[in-house]
Amino acid sequence: MSAGVSLFATTRDNGAVSEMHQRQILLDWLGVEGQRRLAESHAMVVGCGAIGGVVIEWLARAGVGQLTLVDRDIVETSNLHRQVLFTAQDAADRVPKAEAAARRVRSLATGTRVHACVEHCGPENAEELARGVHVIADGLDNMESRMVLNDLAVRDRIPFVHAAAVAMQGRSMAIVPGYACLRCAFPEMPAPGVLQTCDTAGVLGPVVGLAGSFAALQVLRLAAGREDLLLHGLWSADLETNRITTISVPRDPACTCCAQKKFEFLNAAVERTAHVCGRGAVQVLPPHGSGQSVNLSGIAERLSRHGHFDHHGDRLHGELVDAVNAEGQPYELTVFGDGRVIVGRCTDLEAAQSVADRFVGG
Ligand SMILES: [Zn+2]
Repeated sequence: MSAGVSLFATTRDNGAVSEMHQRQILLDWLGVEGQRRLAESHAMVVGCGAIGGVVIEWLARAGVGQLTLVDRDIVETSNLHRQVLFTAQDAADRVPKAEAAARRVRSLATGTRVHACVEHCGPENAEELARGVHVIADGLDNMESRMVLNDLAVRDRIPFVHAAAVAMQGRSMAIVPGYACLRCAFPEMPAPGVLQTCDTAGVLGPVVGLAGSFAALQVLRLAAGREDLLLHGLWSADLETNRITTISVPRDPACTCCAQKKFEFLNAAVERTAHVCGRGAVQVLPPHGSGQSVNLSGIAERLSRHGHFDHHGDRLHGELVDAVNAEGQPYELTVFGDGRVIVGRCTDLEAAQSVADRFVGG
């Protein structure tokens, strides 16, 4: 009964956290060692809505040590039938999903460190967001962003668990080195508007719950060091007909991503402007991409002629007194050390780019 003795010892040593996980430590495949590895693991969930919410809930409860939660949207009432982390109050308060999800994790899993990132995950920041992460989970709602993560996962050999649900169908696929990638399964991107979405075809909570739970299981296998237990291929649940199947996905020897190592989505030219959801603000990237540090002191000096700006660490923040929006309110500017600019009190992308170029420059 050595397993029983070591389980007892661990439970006593680590107090409440181990007590919380007692029932899953009893599982042969996980055990004390698997639980220890979960506590040392760091998972990133990109998209904290329907599938992402289910994945986040299970990872937090299972004792994953660190969670990075990425989503730039805010909670809306129409999310609540399927997005299990959020409350009606979150929707009324228009709370960013990443922040509401982080609050939920902190309330139920005190042993998990959680980082909320209220931003879009795209080619410009995916690598930075994934720094130090052991496994990535897909809670996204579009193929293009998924392909960015697929490129990153293949290039940097980070395990990536894809998941999706729409109408009564759910699916999941684990992308790990040596096996097919998401692009092997979906080599061509559908034309815009071809794929069904939850907005056009609807979706039901239990369908999301099933697909999200299966994806969470795959993430937990990876985080616990049990890659040997992964299901390979495309797992699909059709709950219209009650059929759950796994389609084998062989590696495509001509795959642009995993065979030719052309990371087209990760290297894609980046749109310079994007709305910062829920904030009435627009982010403008520098003309040559972010990542190169800029001379904030020089910019601060230039901006001091146009308003009052405070220089804190690697950012400048203030109001432009002589540039106003359509309502006559002064624009707010935040300039970061990597050249990114957030133009506040602004929802017009072109106006934001023009303001950034005029006052910050390239
Ligand atoms: Zn591939």
